[in-house]
Amino acid sequence: MRASATDLIAPRRTTHAVVVAGVTVGGGAPVVVQSMTNTDTADIDKTTAQIAALARAGSELVRITVDRDEAAKAVPHIRDRLLKRGVRVPIVGDFHYNGHTLLADNPAAAEALDKYRINPGNVGFKDKKDRQFAAIVDTALRWKKPVRIGVNWGSLDQELLTRLMDENAKSPSPKDARAVMHEAIVQSALISAARAEQLGLTANDIILSAKVSAVQDLVAVYNLLASRADYALHVGLTEAGMGSKGIVASTAGIGLLLQAGIGDTIRVSLTPEPGGDRTQEVRVAQEILQSMGLRSFMPIVTACPGCGRTTSTVFQELASNVQTMIRERMPEWRTRYPGVETLNFAVMGCIVNGPGESKHADIGISLPGTGEAPAAPVFIDGKKVTTLRGTNIAAEFQQLVEDYIERRFGNGSPVGLTEPVAATEQEVQSA
Ligand code: SF4
Repeated sequence: MRASATDLIAPRRTTHAVVVAGVTVGGGAPVVVQSMTNTDTADIDKTTAQIAALARAGSELVRITVDRDEAAKAVPHIRDRLLKRGVRVPIVGDFHYNGHTLLADNPAAAEALDKYRINPGNVGFKDKKDRQFAAIVDTALRWKKPVRIGVNWGSLDQELLTRLMDENAKSPSPKDARAVMHEAIVQSALISAARAEQLGLTANDIILSAKVSAVQDLVAVYNLLASRADYALHVGLTEAGMGSKGIVASTAGIGLLLQAGIGDTIRVSLTPEPGGDRTQEVRVAQEILQSMGLRSFMPIVTACPGCGRTTSTVFQELASNVQTMIRERMPEWRTRYPGVETLNFAVMGCIVNGPGESKHADIGISLPGTGEAPAAPVFIDGKKVTTLRGTNIAAEFQQLVEDYIERRFGNGSPVGLTEPVAATEQEVQSA
């Protein structure tokens, strides 16, 4: 019997559920996709537009920088404008150094935000640290907001790290410096969480993260963290990097942890190209979850890589067009056709694997490779239904996709084609 996509994944770790303005993180809820803006929060127009774009792309929580008074004062206006546009995504405030002051001076921002992120490494130093941490927690209690205690190795609590390094040096069997750093990151998160609970928050108000920038460190730190506490965990690399490097590193790190059942919400921290599209990080996060079989967001397109049998660009263009069509049509499809996100499409380059892969898809097309007859058989629900020919194959295939979705998911319509035509081996060979 064929194993399902998630049979080999470790059971999700049991964590406390944290509800962030209606979005549940942890407690067995589906892994939540989140993102962060890179606009100046004081620029209300730009920040509102970017939050709306991230939410439209599928981000279920959006974090914004709250670094100064102008940014804090902008927060309630941003929230109001989003509501006017019908965008109800929870907004998380990211605070460093002066969060205690900004929240105290700007109660409207404290009320408008749906969660506060506290970095224990830079909430304050020496005797101010506890006081300023307590002030943020007090504000969270007053406004009934959950918090994320987000440790980052780039701003790790140096007093804690120094103490652990000193203790390690005196130990009869000292660990290597990297292991001590992992321990310091984990302890910083857990000590801060315990302190937040002493101050009145509960485990249902606290999400933890412990971000590093290398995959193996990420896996080590989160395994340690998950073994010692059952807080909901926000998982992701910090400073993952640009382009394919950031995507690959994030996918490897987040994927390994999800496979082990660790992670309740994920963020892919990609550095965009100058002027690049910020929503890419949302799509990558969704693709990680969907490719692992954990959630479905939009139909998957299976496309072969192409090879010496695909010397024209027809195949790449069709694969790209189908992907673009899905992205553009999803907002409407999602509303009109619940379940459409579970579909699999195949766009294949030649007869070698094309018909076989297309038969496994809900709807697939096998384009002619070099030297093959100029015909493209289309398979629906495992059966060949037609063969497209000529110069309009892309548009005709896209129409078949639309028709298939309407038939399968449209109200009151029968599922599947009424008269599917089975492909014979001969037809496939002559296609
Ligand atoms: S399906 Fe055909 S074109 Fe695509 S990679 Fe395989 S052999 Fe090459």
